[in-house]
Amino acid sequence: MISFVGAGPGNVDLITIKGRRLLEEADIVIYAGSLVSKEHLNFCKEDCKLYNSASMTLEEVIEVVEEGVKANLKVVRLHTGDPTIYGAIREQMDLLDTKDIEYEVVPGVSSFTAACSSIKKEFTLPNVSQTVILTRIEGRTPVPKEEDLEELAKHKASMAIFLSVKEIDRVVEKLIKGYGSDDIPVAVVYKATWEDEKIILGTLKDIGEKIKSNKIDKMAQILVGNFIEGDYERSKLYHPEFTHKFRKGI
Ligand code: SAH
Repeated sequence: MISFVGAGPGNVDLITIKGRRLLEEADIVIYAGSLVSKEHLNFCKEDCKLYNSASMTLEEVIEVVEEGVKANLKVVRLHTGDPTIYGAIREQMDLLDTKDIEYEVVPGVSSFTAACSSIKKEFTLPNVSQTVILTRIEGRTPVPKEEDLEELAKHKASMAIFLSVKEIDRVVEKLIKGYGSDDIPVAVVYKATWEDEKIILGTLKDIGEKIKSNKIDKMAQILVGNFIEGDYERSKLYHPEFTHKFRKGI
C-alpha cells in the first residue's frame, strides 16, 4: 500500500493527524523536495528511507514505490499542500493501476486556503463573490484557451493563482483586460505559513512593481478580487432575523 499524503503549505503542524501518523510509520518516504518542508521528515523513523523526488522521473518514483510495496513496506509519497491540486498524482496513480498496486490519497491544507488565512480574509462574501477560481497562467505547461486568465477574470470571482508569480507582468496584463480595470485588490503571499512568509498587498496597478522590488519569483499565491478590500453584506446564516433548521429568527 502506498499513501499519497498532503503535507500542507509549510508549517509542519498543518499536516493532518492521519498524514503525520503515516509519516511516523513509513518505511519509505518520497517527498517533493522543492516545496515540502524538510521538518516533516523529523517525524519519520530513524531507518526510514528518504527520497527527494525533485531529481527523479515519474518512472523512478514508481520503481521505488513498486519495490517497497513488493517488500511489504509502508510507502508515503509526500506532496505539498493538497495532493489533488497541481500534484501530478493522476499519472502516478494510473501507472500504479497498471501494476495492480493499491493506493490511498490523504488530503492536505492547500496553499490557497493557507494564503487566504495569512491575510485574514474570506474568499466567499455575500454580494462580492460566491466562487473561488483556482488557476495558473500557462508556462511550459499549457492551459486550455477557455481558461485563459483574461477569460476567467471576466467572472470577477475570487481568484487564487498558483505557479505564476514569475510571470507577474503577463498575469497583471491579462487580469486588467478581463476585469476592465486596474483598481482591483491583489495580495501576493510568499511562502504562506513558513517562517519567512511575506505578504505584499496592492492593486493590479502596482502589484507588479512591488513583487519585483521584493524579488519574489517563486512559491507564492496571487490572490485577486474584491474579497480582499471593500464592502460586503453580512451573512444570512448568523443574522438575527434569519430562521433556519437550528435557530429561529426574531
Ligand atoms: N498542491 C499544492 C500546489 C502545488 S503547485 C497546494 O495545494 O498548495 C506549487 C505552487 O503552489 C507554487 O508555485 C505556489 O504558487 C503555490 N504554493 C505552494 N506552497 C505555497 C506556500 N506555502 N505559499 C504560497 N504559495 C504556495
